[in-house]
Amino acid sequence: MRDPNIGEILIQADELQARIADLGAEISADYADREILLVCVLKGAVPFVADLMRRLTVPVEIDFMAVSSYGSSTRSSGVVRILKDLDAPIEGRHVVIVEDIIDSGLTLQYLLRNLRSREPATLEICSLLTKPSRREVEFPIRYVGFELPDRYAVGYGLDLAQRYRNLPYVAALTDEAIAAAD
Ligand code: 5GP
Repeated sequence: MRDPNIGEILIQADELQARIADLGAEISADYADREILLVCVLKGAVPFVADLMRRLTVPVEIDFMAVSSYGSSTRSSGVVRILKDLDAPIEGRHVVIVEDIIDSGLTLQYLLRNLRSREPATLEICSLLTKPSRREVEFPIRYVGFELPDRYAVGYGLDLAQRYRNLPYVAALTDEAIAAAD
């Protein structure tokens, strides 16, 4: 029986993999003569970065950051706290931030400012998902996998109270699940 919290499938597993292969090819071409440092934002971007990095044909290193935004479980507050910082300096490096989803954009706006102050040579964003209708702050997003409607999504890294990150697809929550989480 299907989990009662999981509603419509928004992006099938094979669609995710095909788009990630395209993104990998695009990034590899853009960084042809450079070495990339992927900054994976924990925990939601883990499945994405694992699949993406295997599609890159240029030299790649990876580092991790964990941030938490205060607020309810299904809405971002914009107040961000660093739970785990990068292991190494990024000065002079070609950094690509790998994120699961951009909703209001507040989390990434904070991360961009924070990482820019460390003086990387270049700093770009690669987000698997965005919800353009929810954006509160604007900044250029170099690589985007898919645009989503204004629905709370789970799966392929995205959670509801830490669950469902292991689903191989991206699905919408049912209205009942959203109401129960708020
Ligand atoms: P923002 O600061 O852009 O509003 O939110 C970014 C973070 O909120 C994401 O990294 C993710 O952790 C969480 N988030 C935003 N939208 C969703 C969603 O639809 N589903 C899940 N599971 N998390 C989301």
